[in-house]
Amino acid sequence: MQYPLNLGGKYKRRKLAEFAASVKSMNYAEIKNVDVANGPGVRVSLFVSGCTHHCPGCFNPETWDFAYGTEFGEAEIEKTPEPMKQLGPKDRQGKFTACYTKKAQPDYKGTLKGGRSVVFEAKHTSGDRLEQSVVTDDQRKRLDRHMALGAECFVMVSFGFREFFKVPWAIFRAMKEHYGRKYIKPEDVQEYKVKYIGGVLRFL
Ligand code: SF4
Repeated sequence: MQYPLNLGGKYKRRKLAEFAASVKSMNYAEIKNVDVANGPGVRVSLFVSGCTHHCPGCFNPETWDFAYGTEFGEAEIEKTPEPMKQLGPKDRQGKFTACYTKKAQPDYKGTLKGGRSVVFEAKHTSGDRLEQSVVTDDQRKRLDRHMALGAECFVMVSFGFREFFKVPWAIFRAMKEHYGRKYIKPEDVQEYKVKYIGGVLRFL
């Protein structure tokens, strides 16, 4: 079934986000951000999955199935690509030396259900402390800017792939003030501990 929202500008994005947030369990087939084919003017169209009408000549019979398309989830998060340049020939195993061609950005960016941005770094240590300096100056500046604009920003910390912590960026960046040193240990950040169940980090 097609669910076009004929609304304008910021208002249409807010209403679309409100609608998406209200959906408990539903799949969608497609979101067209600029649609001129499904009614007068320019509109955002949300095509949700599932239809019981089965009209003859329907343009989208594949969407009749309620399980078709993508499930509305808690968030859509993507790994930031890190472009690199190969510096030499590959060896017999296909390995090669390379260097990054751009300054590192925060590892992950996305959108939480409801419309808020989420930006975070993922850091691992096999030891019992994580230095603040593992986040580069460039990453720090970008996280600061995203946080100032209202994004949810944090550092996902792994100690030995056994314990995981979602440390808010406001805390991580001011480590010295909070913990008296520029590194953290698992005991410092227990309040930010994240459950790890069935191979999945429950951090949202
Ligand atoms: S069958 Fe197709 S045309 Fe008919 S209501 Fe459903 S989606 Fe629309």
